[in-house]
Amino acid sequence: MKVELSSEKVKSDFVKKVEELSGQNILSCYQCGKCSAGCPSSYAMDLLPSQVIRMVQLGLQDEIVNSKTVWLCASCLTCSVRCPRGVDIAAIFEALRLVVTRDKDKLNYVEPSEITAEQLEELPQIALISNFRKFTG
Ligand code: SF4
Ligand code: SF4
Repeated sequence: MKVELSSEKVKSDFVKKVEELSGQNILSCYQCGKCSAGCPSSYAMDLLPSQVIRMVQLGLQDEIVNSKTVWLCASCLTCSVRCPRGVDIAAIFEALRLVVTRDKDKLNYVEPSEITAEQLEELPQIALISNFRKFTG
């Protein structure tokens, strides 16, 4: 994957928003890989959990949004428990899902009452859960 790095991306609103929503200091991660090694869903992911965390550090929003990883996460918390730096990776992944399911004006991007039966069969279950969670705080 070819990525473009810049100080603007590292200091972007995207990084600040993920830190704000998750309550985590993204720079605490030192890329040991223990989160990825213990993730039960990693076999199906196109980016490993530790790679997603690194991409958040670098402000690579487009690359993360276009990845399937946060939608395959089962929110099992194994990664968060294993992290030697105390990073709650699962909370960061939930923040990433919220960034996608909210638009910039904090209006609904996904309206639950408009989801069709066909879409329900295709949507990742975690996307629905994230969408409903945003109404609770
Ligand atoms: S376990 Fe923690 S420190 Fe290690 S790569 Fe994952 S988030 Fe980073
Ligand atoms: S919470 Fe998600 S990313 Fe973390 S170990 Fe579980 S499935 Fe993997």
